[in-house]
Parts: sequence; C-alpha cells; structure tokens
Amino acid sequence: MLNFTVGPVMCSDDVRAVGGEQVPYFRTPEFSNTMFENEQLMLKFAKAPDGSRVAFMTNSSTGSMEAVVMNCFDDSDKVLVIDGGSFGHRFVELCEIHDIPHTVLRLNHGQKLTKERLYEYDGQEFTGLLVNIDETSTGVLYDSEMIGEFCKKNNMFYVCDCVSAFLADPFDMANCGADVMITGSQKVLACPPGISIIVLAPRAVERVTTRKVKSMYFDLADVLKNMERGQTPFTPAVGILRQINTRLKEIEAAGGADVEIARVAAQAEDFRKKIKELPFEFVSESPANGVTPVHPVNADAYEIFEILKDEYNIWICPNGGDMKNTVFRVGHIGHLSHDDNTTLINALKDMMDKNLL
Ligand SMILES: *Cc1c(COP(=O)(O)O)cnc(C)c1O
Repeated sequence: MLNFTVGPVMCSDDVRAVGGEQVPYFRTPEFSNTMFENEQLMLKFAKAPDGSRVAFMTNSSTGSMEAVVMNCFDDSDKVLVIDGGSFGHRFVELCEIHDIPHTVLRLNHGQKLTKERLYEYDGQEFTGLLVNIDETSTGVLYDSEMIGEFCKKNNMFYVCDCVSAFLADPFDMANCGADVMITGSQKVLACPPGISIIVLAPRAVERVTTRKVKSMYFDLADVLKNMERGQTPFTPAVGILRQINTRLKEIEAAGGADVEIARVAAQAEDFRKKIKELPFEFVSESPANGVTPVHPVNADAYEIFEILKDEYNIWICPNGGDMKNTVFRVGHIGHLSHDDNTTLINALKDMMDKNLL
C-alpha cells in the first residue's frame, strides 16, 4: 500500500515496530519518563515560550478542538472564527454547541486570508480567535504571524489548530504569540490515530486552571495537574504515546523540526513539479506544504480516488461535501519519498493512456 492521504499516513519502520510490541502497564516511572520526553520535544518543536505545558489527549484532534473551546471560552467571550473550509466550519459548530458568542469570517474555498480582510474586524472588542493554520480541506496555509499581530493588537486569545501544519509548515508559537496549538498523532507525527496534543502557552495554562469547565474527560486543568508527574487522569492510548516517543526522537536525531519541515516542503515541491504534465489544476491560493488539492479538468475526482485504490493500491485523499467530485488531495506528510511521487504520477499517466483521465 502506498498512502498519500492526509492521515493516517505512512509510518516509519521503527514506529511500526513499536506498534507490534506488547502494551505495558503505564502507572510507572518508566512511562512517566516517556511522557516527559514527549513533552520536552513537543515544546521544542512547537517553539513554545518558556512556561508552556503540554496535554496529551486520547481522542482525535476534533476532541482537542472541542476541549480547547470548552476550557478557554465561555459566554462572556466574543470569538472570531476563520471559516475557509470544513475544519474552520468545525470551530463554528463547536462555538454553537457550547454557546460561545462568535462571529464568522468566511472565506471562499481555496482563498487565503489577507490582512485587509482580517483588519475589517479590528477594534471590535473580540476576546479570542480560532483558526486552522492549514485548512486541510482546501490546503490553504494562513499566515500565523500576521494573525498573531492582529491578536496582540486586539488583546485576543489566539488558538491555532495546527493539526496538519505542525512539522509541515514553519510555525513558531512564541514568535506568533499563539496561546494554544493543537496537533494530532496521525498527521505529520506519522503515528496511528488516537492521540491529540495540545500545547498551552503560559496565558492558556493560567486560563484553563482558573476557569471552570463542565466536563470530566475534557478538564484540561486535571490533565495538566496529572502531567506534572508524567501521567494522564485516565488510561491513555499507551501504545501510541510510545510510538510518538520513537517518532519525536527520530525527528530530533535527523536535525529537528526545521529539517522535517524542509523535508515535507521538498516532497510537496517535487510532486507539484511532476504533476504539471497532467490535465489537472491547483486550487489553493496559498498552498500549505502538507497537502496539494488538485482539480482534474476532464474527470471525476472521486472516481480517480477509487480507481487508484482498487487498481493500483495507491491511496490519495478524496474530498468531502461539495468538493467531492471536483477535487482530490495528495498528501506530502509521513514516510514518503520522491520515488513514491513518481510511482503515483506513473499510475496517473497509465490511467491517461487508458482514457480514464
Ligand atoms: C485532521 C485535522 C483535524 C482533526 O481531525 P480528526 O479526524 O478529529 O483527527 C482538525 N483540523 C485540521 C486542520 C485537520 O487537518
């Protein structure tokens, strides 16, 4: 199987080997040590400011998006949500469910967020901002520094969903002033799904430990309190946390976050160069490194996904909703090489020879 989706993605052999081991009991100093190592490397790779903390959550990243909305905001807030696709829209729905007063800045699919558009909301007493730094559904990368300046100027609590951007696109939590960064195990961390990670800057730590949340499982104050001893309140996905440990150390040994980001960028560039020969169009104004959304000019996007899967054992990522038949996505994250790109391009050329494109 060759997997170009945006999660789960291809794992390295070492990460897969850990997945084949017995899962150990976890209320031990050994497992706490694994968790402390995970925390240190996450803080380092996120370029988090001093005093930041990490919450390892056993849920998919939508669970962490929800936990952050519940723990960081309440009905006294006024939140600006950037909605440029299905992940932005998920934040809108979470604000609706949890009765967080909010305003939606809607962008067309594939459109980037300009400074002009954002500053239409300047000086309007917003208290927070929610954004997906890579809106993975359309592959648009937003400018975390530009948005950070806006938040600082307006004294807004700044939440970055970096689920697919972390380790794929440059992101400096301290520099851009993000209060919260969220990512997940099955994106660039290239582990199985099941763990999502929330990095909280000091202002966020202070907020979640002083505000009350009406939830047992999603109580981030409780999660952080347990993490002081390298533990979680409830049984976590122990096996995946051990795989994350292997993966984080792999990245560190290869040169750290910037090297991994450069690797993903080169993987994307190689694909975008090779695919120019085919009858496809790019659809994103400001493309993120992790994924390339592609519009087939002559064929149905979902059918291409099905044929590649069934006839070639290659998985690309179909789109949902109203882009299902017009756009598919090719991921550049996980254990993939430039030769893998060539294999995919050759399969597409073969489809073209058979008049399937
Ligand atoms: C993948 C992703 C998520 C989370 O999806 P889950 O299915 O809950 O893991 C959230 N935001 C973005 C931007 C993503 O790419």
